[in-house]
Amino acid sequence: MSEVKRLLKPVPPGGVIGIIGGGQLGRMLAMAAARLGLNAAIYNDEHNAPAFQVTPLQIAAAYDDYNMLTGFAEICDAITFEFENLPSASIAYLASRKPLHPGQRALETTQDRLTEKNFVRSLGLKTAPFAPVSSADDAAMAFDKLGGPAILKTRRLGYDGKGQAKVTSAQEAMRTFDGFKAAPSILEGFVDFAFEASVVAACSLDGQFAAYDPPENVPAHHILRRSIVPGRLSKGQADEAKAIARKIADALDYVGVLAVELFVGKDGALTVNEIAPRVHNSGHWTIEACACSQFEQHIRAVAGWPLGDPTRHADAVMENIIGSEAHAWESLARSGAIHLYGKREARPGRKMGHVTRLKRLTK
Ligand code: AMP
Repeated sequence: MSEVKRLLKPVPPGGVIGIIGGGQLGRMLAMAAARLGLNAAIYNDEHNAPAFQVTPLQIAAAYDDYNMLTGFAEICDAITFEFENLPSASIAYLASRKPLHPGQRALETTQDRLTEKNFVRSLGLKTAPFAPVSSADDAAMAFDKLGGPAILKTRRLGYDGKGQAKVTSAQEAMRTFDGFKAAPSILEGFVDFAFEASVVAACSLDGQFAAYDPPENVPAHHILRRSIVPGRLSKGQADEAKAIARKIADALDYVGVLAVELFVGKDGALTVNEIAPRVHNSGHWTIEACACSQFEQHIRAVAGWPLGDPTRHADAVMENIIGSEAHAWESLARSGAIHLYGKREARPGRKMGHVTRLKRLTK
């Protein structure tokens, strides 16, 4: 444990946890904070933030507005963030004023796909084959080296399939790179996996580690459709997934919840796709199926509290409510535990809420 970590005192009930980002993750974090007798303050760059609806402590300002960041830091006892595409200088600034978790190192490592992949490899973990691409010529060379099909991904700011495209020839790789306005990218070899999974885990300030059972994740149109626990992972694979999360967390001196997205190969091998330094969509089922949800767990960790029990007491299927599906809220509400994020406009591809359906525990 680092000296800095040892010196930090827990935030007592009544204290304020600052959350940068006001989407549904910030909203569910704020609700979890309230349950623990803590207050959440939300900082978001737009006025209509789902998380603003659940706490009176809110600031709407740009993520690099240092006057507003200063005021925000003043009212907070500890700070965290709900998404990783933030200016790292702003996070460093906030961290110089108040305890901030997970720290800048975790943010910077995971903000850039190339840095992230090199980091994962340096731990001896498996990734898809990849090559950096900073010019159209690089794109063609990378394709020739990796073979097709492959996926071109921008190094930064991609999510839910944005900033990535499958390519099947060197020419297509070049054209796609130009289409990305020559943004620094990586080309990734296509992994012919059996299915996708993820592991959500947490580390506390005093070095406790807790991992949730890894769900199987089913995507549709590049967006998570559902998470199923237990999925098709064997006990051995589930244990390996948890060990991967621990290795990554230890190397980043991590405090808070993190998620690791995995491909489960036809040969059973686990490949790391992506690390999210935050609570994750594939962990929403923990609200109903575990004694301590990923949201409460993250708030506990950031506040310097002991971690809660991640044990699963039911089988669960979490299904996202996407775009116009939200219009069917009545029948969805009948079918399970419904969470709606308070978003007014049901745009295509927008995550509007989710439903979790529980079944008796099988394993
Ligand atoms: P990402 O934005 O990297 O999480 O990718 C989004 C989705 O694209 C993943 O969940 C996979 O379904 C698919 N995908 C990403 N990278 C690869 C890959 N190297 N091989 C096969 N499918 C991939």
